[in-house]
This record gives sequence, structure tokens and C-alpha cells, in this order.
Amino acid sequence: MSLSAIRNWVFDMDGTLTVAVHDFAAIRGALGIPPEDDILTHLAALPAAEAAAKHAWLLEHERDLALASTAATGAVELVRELAGRGCRLAILTRNARELAHVTLEAIGLADCFAVEDVLGRDEAAPKPSPDGLLKIAEAWAVAPGELVMVGDYRFDLDCGRAAGARTVLVNLPENPWPELVDWHAPDCRALRAMLG
Ligand SMILES: [Mg+2]
Repeated sequence: MSLSAIRNWVFDMDGTLTVAVHDFAAIRGALGIPPEDDILTHLAALPAAEAAAKHAWLLEHERDLALASTAATGAVELVRELAGRGCRLAILTRNARELAHVTLEAIGLADCFAVEDVLGRDEAAPKPSPDGLLKIAEAWAVAPGELVMVGDYRFDLDCGRAAGARTVLVNLPENPWPELVDWHAPDCRALRAMLG
């Protein structure tokens, strides 16, 4: 299948449509999370009150980042091109849905994604789980193989593979995970060019 034949596109947000700004080491430090631990997995295993307090801190920290978001190279043009071609568009993010909207507003893409097609960490099990992609496929009544997952990190690719979707890696000059990637583009401008 050629990339231009794909009609159902799911994007990671942070670092894919935006310039990555999360300082995960600082977040781990502030929340007392060991460097080797996944942040959301760590919080999920805490006692409820501590988890709630730390999630609240994370949400506030991420709100500031969301308000200051800037679009990644070519991201706005790519998404508008796909929307213009009549493709279905979704966001699957480990961020919160509410903050995904703040971010999309900040980069000028909020009108391209329906609210129900933005899945955050409260709408689906976080990537690398395939849960979110499977939910989107079900909502759109398409086979997972008709979806493409676009992301900048291994979790996006693992999620795509586990769901049986196609995968695109963007925003890395090289492709460190060839076995997980169907298409690789150094940025969204190059990906748009690959659409022909
Ligand atoms: Mg990302």
C-alpha cells in the first residue's frame, strides 16, 4: 500500500505535531520518580491520594507547556493537506485530552480534529498499549490495518505494531527502529512530500 492511499491517520502530539518541550528528567525529579521508570506507569502504581496529587501537579506543569506550544516543521501543512484530501484524522497522546486541545489551539490545528477523535491518557490505556488505536479503528468502523500511526518515539511504533496498524516515524534524522517502521520521514514537511 502506498502512503497516499491511506485514508485514516492517527498522530502522536508532543514531538510529532509540536516541537518537543517536555523535560522528562525534570518531571521525574519533581515527582520523585526513578530515572528508569515510565512516568504514567509509576503514578498508576501509587496509593490513590498520592497518585491524584502527582497527576494534578503534572497537569499544571503540562498546561504551561501546552500554552507555549509551537508547531513542528511542516506539521500544520501536513495535517491541512490530509484534511483537504478528506482523510480522517485523530490524535493519540499520553497527554491529557484537555491539554491536547490547548496545544492544538496554540499551533492552529484545533479545527482539524473532532473532540471525540482526540484520545488522551484518560480515554485509552497509554501507548505502547494498542488500546487507543483499536478504539479509533472501532469508532471509525475500519480494520486496524487501514490506520497509520504517526509518531516520534518508540511507544508510538510499538502501539501501531501491536494494533496491526501501519507506522510512520517522523522528526528523527535516522530510523533507529527499522523493524517497527513502515515509512520514515525526517520531519512532517518531508512526510507531506512523500504523499505525492
Ligand atoms: Mg511524542
